[in-house]
Amino acid sequence: MRDVLVPEAARVRRFVDRFARHAEAAGYGQIITPLLEDAAVFQRVGEATDVVQKEMYRFTDNGGRDVSLRPEFTASVCRAFVQHRPATPWKVWTAGTNFRYERPQRGRYRQFDQVDAEVLGTEDPLVDVEMIALGWHFLQSLGLRQVRLLLNSLGEPGERAAYVEALRTYFGSRAAELSDASVATLARNPLRVLDSKRPEDAAIIAAAPTIEHFYGDASRTHFEVVRDGLDLLSIPYEVSPRLVRGLDYYVRTTFEYVGATLDSAQNALGGGGRYDGLVESLGGPPTPGIGFAIGVDRTLLACDDEAVFDAREPAVDMFVVDTTGGAAALAICDEARRAGLRADRAFDGRSMKSQMKSADRSGAAVAVIVGSDEASAGTALVRPLRGDGDQRAVPRTDLIQTVSDELNG
Ligand code: AMP
Repeated sequence: MRDVLVPEAARVRRFVDRFARHAEAAGYGQIITPLLEDAAVFQRVGEATDVVQKEMYRFTDNGGRDVSLRPEFTASVCRAFVQHRPATPWKVWTAGTNFRYERPQRGRYRQFDQVDAEVLGTEDPLVDVEMIALGWHFLQSLGLRQVRLLLNSLGEPGERAAYVEALRTYFGSRAAELSDASVATLARNPLRVLDSKRPEDAAIIAAAPTIEHFYGDASRTHFEVVRDGLDLLSIPYEVSPRLVRGLDYYVRTTFEYVGATLDSAQNALGGGGRYDGLVESLGGPPTPGIGFAIGVDRTLLACDDEAVFDAREPAVDMFVVDTTGGAAALAICDEARRAGLRADRAFDGRSMKSQMKSADRSGAAVAVIVGSDEASAGTALVRPLRGDGDQRAVPRTDLIQTVSDELNG
């Protein structure tokens, strides 16, 4: 877990604001779900996943309830859907902090932020396209140019189950050659063996059965419509039959946005897919759904690596230097802020020289200086700190307007 300081914190906020703009432009409304849920909400949807089995911050609260900090958004959004029964299609976006007890490393933390979008109540494959496009265009808008879109379909639940059995048989027959970790994964969830990045598993995985042989007509058509839609929008993608994703509930469309610059275990900037049975498993009516999440921390690392969407040092518009005791600075800053200008000042009765240093550091375009001469004349000096304009004395009554003009000119 990390502290996020200036200027990174403002960059995180801009990132979320940018996502909100993209999502709201596509008709998604914001939802804010609790940071803490009944652990069963996550438990029910991710029985066989590492996220739920090993990584939850789960504890008993003072009322004896079994609760967990959320490790992801989708389960909470589905729980909210069951609880509020909104009209469908229900298009929502959200952003915030999730917790997973993982081994921390670059791009992987125990507390991390995500932006997320979900659509409940329609199985139209064009919604899949809209979602994938939303995430894609958002990432492009940050300036990222090395992101690849991986696409797969896991078929209908029955097809997926048949595929899982085929993998169980196949990997079972080659268990002696698999890494110990993959043998353990196999017992829990054969699909996840496909995720192994261990070199000793690579050749065995490469020869494993692939999902497309298990598609029925409906899933084949769904997948075709998704691909045609992406083609129509000129969004480049790679069909990746081994893309299974970490959470267990996906059926049909799954996708992932992969960065080029991070270690391969941390190179997924985001991803998602369809989860048509999830609402039902939480006690709601059969309701198709699809969603994705993009990791804020990790995507900002990718932005660093591609030198885009950089953090900006915060700056004020004006800095007030007051050598008459500080009350003038108080009044001028107050007036400036109420007029919508960003204004700062020094405290503790510092010297003129020290205050000018602070003015330079503040990033202000203009210093407003009040000494005893100006105080008795009812004026202030306006001194441009950038460029080569001259300092001039301005009546206090005109001061804020003059500074505004200076900034806009
Ligand atoms: P997931 O919810 O596992 O599909 O993850 C979606 C995205 O969230 C990933 O692609 C990452 O960008 C981000 N993410 C997931 N887990 C972590 C973590 N422990 N630390 C940082 N980012 C994470």
